[in-house]
Amino acid sequence: MKIAILGGGISGVALARLLAADGHRVTVLEHAERPGGLCRSRRYGEFVFDEAGGHIVFSKDKPVLDWQLARCGGEAATVRTQRCTKIRWHDRWVPYPFENGVGHLTKQAIVECVAGYVEAYVQRRTGAPCPPDFHGWIHWRMGDGFARHFMVPYNEKIWKCDLRAMSSGWVAGRVPEAPIEDVLKSAVGLDTEGYVHQSVFWFPRHGGFETMVRGTVDGGGFELQCGVAVRRVERSGDRFRVDGTEFDLVVNTVPLPQIEGAFPEMPADVRADVRALRPISLVNVMIGVRLDEPLPPHSWVYLPFPEQGPTNRVTYFSNYSPHNAPAGHGSFLAEVTHRGELRPDAAWLRGVVAALGRAVFLRPEQVVLAEWCDNEYAYIDQDLAFAERIARVRRWWDHSGYITFGRFGRYEYHNSDQCVRRAMQVQEHVRAIAATGEPARPRFA
Ligand SMILES: Cc1cc2nc3c(=O)[nH]c(=O)nc-3n(C[C@H](O)[C@H](O)[C@H](O)COP(=O)(O)OP(=O)(O)OC[C@H]3O[C@@H](n4cnc5c(N)ncnc54)[C@H](O)[C@@H]3O)c2cc1C
Repeated sequence: MKIAILGGGISGVALARLLAADGHRVTVLEHAERPGGLCRSRRYGEFVFDEAGGHIVFSKDKPVLDWQLARCGGEAATVRTQRCTKIRWHDRWVPYPFENGVGHLTKQAIVECVAGYVEAYVQRRTGAPCPPDFHGWIHWRMGDGFARHFMVPYNEKIWKCDLRAMSSGWVAGRVPEAPIEDVLKSAVGLDTEGYVHQSVFWFPRHGGFETMVRGTVDGGGFELQCGVAVRRVERSGDRFRVDGTEFDLVVNTVPLPQIEGAFPEMPADVRADVRALRPISLVNVMIGVRLDEPLPPHSWVYLPFPEQGPTNRVTYFSNYSPHNAPAGHGSFLAEVTHRGELRPDAAWLRGVVAALGRAVFLRPEQVVLAEWCDNEYAYIDQDLAFAERIARVRRWWDHSGYITFGRFGRYEYHNSDQCVRRAMQVQEHVRAIAATGEPARPRFA
């Protein structure tokens, strides 16, 4: 078949490679000047930075992990790291996940966290129902101490909203939930490991996370057109036209609010739902520093408190690969979320760096480079109406004859490995269409 894929992020190029391997003629249409979307990286001299915050290769899904490592050039072309993540809790470095690191808090805070955790545990065991909102969920699952000392301030900082206005439907698998035994062990000083499927990760030795995208495009056997903003997609019977060119099938991976205008047949009520799908945006600050001594072995650190500045997470990016920074230097990524209101400038940048200095990540006089990259589509706004809204939107797409997937192409809170898994599912679906000629509806598990 002749297949058009809209969007050249990892979802689009992964699917293109898979479909080309099945013998289809595939064209990827990408708006930006090069592919990669949120997985892109950039260079400043000898520094390499990821554009949308720190990205790592990890997965519970072994075939997908192997596929991603192969696209990075094989395991030998990557750096394998044992995760070392912390929370900057006032003047302490507390191991992450917080429940597994509770023994590192003050004695008073340990008591408050453990007492709240046990109370919440008993409430759940005696039938307390899971609240529909995220604030309620935090108290129901973690208890009042963990809520106050980390979960609420951190999540308010990243989501930029009252957590009562957020749904709890998305947390499964995304927010670490330690068993009570782990919390009790940690409280008496026996450290435990949480979120174990991510305890080891990989990163391309050269070129940043984008190397995985380049390894997907190179030798992929498909056509990639960059600098193309898709404007009009139409269907008549079982034929499709994209900006006037005919295709047998069209697959979208572009963020839905950015592409709805190209689909004239979309009903007005579905279009209104798509326009209400707002993202959370992310300014990623890329910082290069001169080093007198090696950086601590941290992978990344969470900053829950307002007095630590606007940054919610700092990645020790030169720890991912020694080639991310020149000799004698190190690098950080500082992530700052916003809801479209932030306009970074030089003064704002100085404020971010100064706050990281106060939180003892760096000394401002070490800084040799500070730049930023604003990513409009970074996280999904999980408001209370989101689940019903996205269900209506997906229903239209899944009956339309088009296929849509991707982090914002389907509004699934997916990492790149899950995007690749979805691409493999779409490949199966396209095989079924090719075999039967029937435009069967895609089935996503
Ligand atoms: C802060 C942060 C940290 C993350 N960390 C990790 C991690 O550690 N590991 C991991 O695996 N994943 C991580 N992710 C998730 C990962 O970035 C995404 O899952 C993945 O990049 C999504 O790819 P995509 O192709 O679905 O979407 P996108 O990357 O958004 O691609 C969509 C593409 O569509 C293009 N486009 C837009 N409009 C048009 C148009 N009109 N016509 C044509 N093209 C258009 C865009 O330019 C873009 O290239 C992280 C994400 C964030 C925000």
